[in-house]
Amino acid sequence: MAFGWIDEQAELRRRAGLVRTLRPRAAESALLDLASNDYLGLARHPEVTEGAARAARTWGGGSTGSRLVTGSTELHAELEGELADFCGFEAALVFSSGYAANLAVVTALAPHGSLIVSDAGNHASLIDGCRLARGTTQVAAHADPDAVRKALGGHEGPAVAVSDTVFSVDGDAAPLTGLAEACREHGAGLVLDDAHGLGVLGDGGRGAPHAAGLAGADDVVVTVTLSKSLGGQGGAVLGPSRVIGHQDNAARTFIFDTGLAPAAAGAALAALRLLRREPARAARAGEVARELHTRLTAAGLEAVRPDAAVVSVRAPSPEQAVRWAADCRAAGLSVGCFRPPSVPDGVSRLRLTARADLSGAEIERAVQVIGETRP
Ligand code: PMP
Repeated sequence: MAFGWIDEQAELRRRAGLVRTLRPRAAESALLDLASNDYLGLARHPEVTEGAARAARTWGGGSTGSRLVTGSTELHAELEGELADFCGFEAALVFSSGYAANLAVVTALAPHGSLIVSDAGNHASLIDGCRLARGTTQVAAHADPDAVRKALGGHEGPAVAVSDTVFSVDGDAAPLTGLAEACREHGAGLVLDDAHGLGVLGDGGRGAPHAAGLAGADDVVVTVTLSKSLGGQGGAVLGPSRVIGHQDNAARTFIFDTGLAPAAAGAALAALRLLRREPARAARAGEVARELHTRLTAAGLEAVRPDAAVVSVRAPSPEQAVRWAADCRAAGLSVGCFRPPSVPDGVSRLRLTARADLSGAEIERAVQVIGETRP
């Protein structure tokens, strides 16, 4: 029977208790949210929703075409200019998602004969970019500049190292200065995915590369998502003009994808302007994460020390992680649950996201529920 193998796989997943299900969220949920990536609590900020609505009224429900045909509006240009300026780069290009931005940048910067050195903890979208690229990929040990240096060592021809700045599973930060040094020794480019750094790290949320003094460097390219701290949807690649311009011609997920929806661009632009006006929001997400970590640890839970807004709590097994997250939910707390095969190291976790708008009482309640429901 066609697709019969799908039923077999589904049965195996069911028996292992690892079935993923979609749970449509109600507009007004009573759950305390420590699962979303809305780090700064901006997704429903009136200025952000009004930015989206105004953009839709002005430009329409969609961008009407690919960026190189009709899908580039003045709004896209405005967002690209302000995003590049905020993060300290010469130019930016926005995409319909951070995922598409990562596919674009890796494929465009790793031609046939090139080498890509990819951190073992990188996000799926960077991994998929490596799989799609014409260059050869070597996976380097996690957060290890010496491993990158070694991998780059014997290669002739174009090379890039690619890394998340803040790893999405454990929330630990990459050693950016060491990575940049390793790349420079070998004339290689450095591609950094700052999805979890923008809006949280660096001066006023300008991101991890800015904090590490790498903003505006001619050998560094950064990708971001507009869907986390900026509370919208979409992605962007930031870097030197000549590298960004190269994507117009070489990045298939830019060329063949419909341009970012105007509402998404309008939301991100409004959030960016808000962040500029209220820079204290950025530091607050990090503070909440550190407070969560301190309280979780005091409650005897095994949590990874957060470098940004993601806090990872170890669970004993995949099944127990799934049940733990469900029990939290039943007690009114929404948390993420990461377990194999989504995590490559086989270690299951609850994944908490610290939002800048969480109150002290909410942090306390979250830790109490997690402690009371622990397996
Ligand atoms: N990179 C990282 C590190 C991420 O966590 C995510 C989001 N899950 C992405 C890229 C993809 O971004 P988007 O959701 O905008 O496609």
